[in-house]
Amino acid sequence: MGMKGYVMQLQPFSVNDGDGIRTTVFLAGCPMHCAWCANPEGCTQQLKIGWHIRKCIGCGACARVCPQGIGIDLNAEREKCIACGKCADVCPQNARVRMVQEADADEIVKQIQTHRLFYSYSGGGVTFSGGEAAMQPAFLNELTEQIYDLGYSMDIETCGLFDFEAVRPSLARMDLIFLDLKHMDPAQHKRWTGQSNERVLENMARLAELPAEVVIRIPVIKGVNADEENIRASAAFVHKILPHAKMELLPYHSFGKIKYEALGIPYDHPEFGRPTKEELEHLREIVRSEGVETADFR
Ligand code: SF4
Ligand code: SF4
Ligand code: SF4
Repeated sequence: MGMKGYVMQLQPFSVNDGDGIRTTVFLAGCPMHCAWCANPEGCTQQLKIGWHIRKCIGCGACARVCPQGIGIDLNAEREKCIACGKCADVCPQNARVRMVQEADADEIVKQIQTHRLFYSYSGGGVTFSGGEAAMQPAFLNELTEQIYDLGYSMDIETCGLFDFEAVRPSLARMDLIFLDLKHMDPAQHKRWTGQSNERVLENMARLAELPAEVVIRIPVIKGVNADEENIRASAAFVHKILPHAKMELLPYHSFGKIKYEALGIPYDHPEFGRPTKEELEHLREIVRSEGVETADFR
């Protein structure tokens, strides 16, 4: 039995989270609460059950095993749910699913090993994501120590708000660190994520102490951070503190809507817009004009 942690899922065959074919480990918990978050289940370290109503055929198997007497409509009685997972075990349609579960580090590493051939043939490996991948420092350090010993490449995607010293052992084992920069303006950052960006910027500067390649990612959202001024200021800052880092601009998407639905949480953000290809390319040119190379893993 290994150390336990909260995990959303292990996603094999990922091709957007670093080089080659990777297994992405989504760890639960996040100190930010971004209004556009595509992984709302991962915002807290709590067991969570989802109900995908579009997959449900109304067979009633879930209701028959529920120790809390919850019927088919989970969202109507969600406050009673103790996330035991019994309904997910019997659902024939995968309409009831565990969206966050407690997992064992040794078991995760065993699963990761089953894909080792893909890593070696494609130059891939393992990527830690979330939620915030660094929110469970001891668990992350345990996982990265075991995977490092196996010799697999490791990358991490982080929002930048973490205890640097607590996760330094893991960061030092990474080949590539993706750090999200949501806004250069502290007040705007707080407005949209619930947190100031001061520590994010501090941690970003400290990445220079590590051997990993760094990619600063901006989720580009019209109505939030897609203005030229913000992108230029972000690129200038990156160039100043991490002259070898690249930047990747990712267009806003609302793919996470389905997860909000599964958790019974409303998602209604008409104020957020997706930049066009041309607008995004224009912003990439601004980044390059500030002396920062752009990257594209998507
Ligand atoms: S067991 Fe699954 S398919 Fe059947 S009613 Fe429950 S959620 Fe729907
Ligand atoms: S997770 Fe357990 S308590 Fe919650 S709805 Fe399913 S069976 Fe009931
Ligand atoms: S930092 Fe990422 S995981 Fe956390 S709330 Fe924001 S978008 Fe979601």
